[in-house]
Amino acid sequence: MVDLQAVLDSIYKELTPRIGEGKVADYIPELAKIDPNQFGMAVVTVDGKVYRAGDADVPFSIQSISKVFMLTLALGKVGEGLWKRVGREPSGSAFNSIVQLEHEHGIPRNPFINAGAIAVTDVVMAGHAPREAIGELLRFVRYLADDESVTIDEKVARSETQTGYRNFALANFMRAYKNIDHPVEHVLGVYFHQCALSMSCEQLARAGLFLAARGSNPMTGHSVVSPKRARRINALMLTCGHYDGSGDFAYHVGLPGKSGVGGGIFAVAPGVASIAAWSPGLNKVGNSQLGAVALEMLAARTGWSVFGD
Ligand code: GLN
Repeated sequence: MVDLQAVLDSIYKELTPRIGEGKVADYIPELAKIDPNQFGMAVVTVDGKVYRAGDADVPFSIQSISKVFMLTLALGKVGEGLWKRVGREPSGSAFNSIVQLEHEHGIPRNPFINAGAIAVTDVVMAGHAPREAIGELLRFVRYLADDESVTIDEKVARSETQTGYRNFALANFMRAYKNIDHPVEHVLGVYFHQCALSMSCEQLARAGLFLAARGSNPMTGHSVVSPKRARRINALMLTCGHYDGSGDFAYHVGLPGKSGVGGGIFAVAPGVASIAAWSPGLNKVGNSQLGAVALEMLAARTGWSVFGD
């Protein structure tokens, strides 16, 4: 077994001169204010050990990584029926693209592009007031991370509510095809709050550990989903978790992963560990530039890959 702390320390040391690379997301005004000179990483192994480097304890806006947690909730609620509302194919398009929606009659390609995530949120809202749906997600994520200090950054949620024109367009478009059941403002109110979840790399790696451990969190003993469902969520992260950068991420890193425009990446080495990396500067397709490099280095140095050793 490799010395994981030594691996993380070496990655952090080698990447330190590059911290600040990429461009922070500026289409959400509140995210544009983030200091790009930050980098953190955390690994939690299925035998309950935690390894950290850099700003691993600094909370950041997890943005689209929240789509993994909302998808888990939606599958728990409606099971395979979810796939009537959203597909399971990689889009090859940008995270906020609208083009395929018209060809596919308001059914988004997958649950991780914005349109798909908005439809998933609509599913979770059934029978709830919007505030209750936000509460349900927050409770779920706190339970997963075993940490009551996880919060939602209201400023980020408000900032996106004021400027999320594309998401309003996507939601209205799907509503026209009857693939959104609730008022668009309510659905987006919940969606923007889920994206505004604020978590550190360590909290994120702990929260996602169930996906590395056959659906149960070995640190808390909490059983979250069946082993089969964990495998399937991982399959979706591998094929769709990085939007039009998913193929590249699979090629370079070789692990299921989900990115967010806050600069976070969550990844899973099935049976071994869950991982979170964060650096706010993004590459051209909106994924953390250094986060992806760090994960590539980690995978290379540990031999972790879903494609063989
Ligand atoms: N809240 C962001 C949006 O809807 C999430 C996008 C992302 O993280 N890729 O635009």
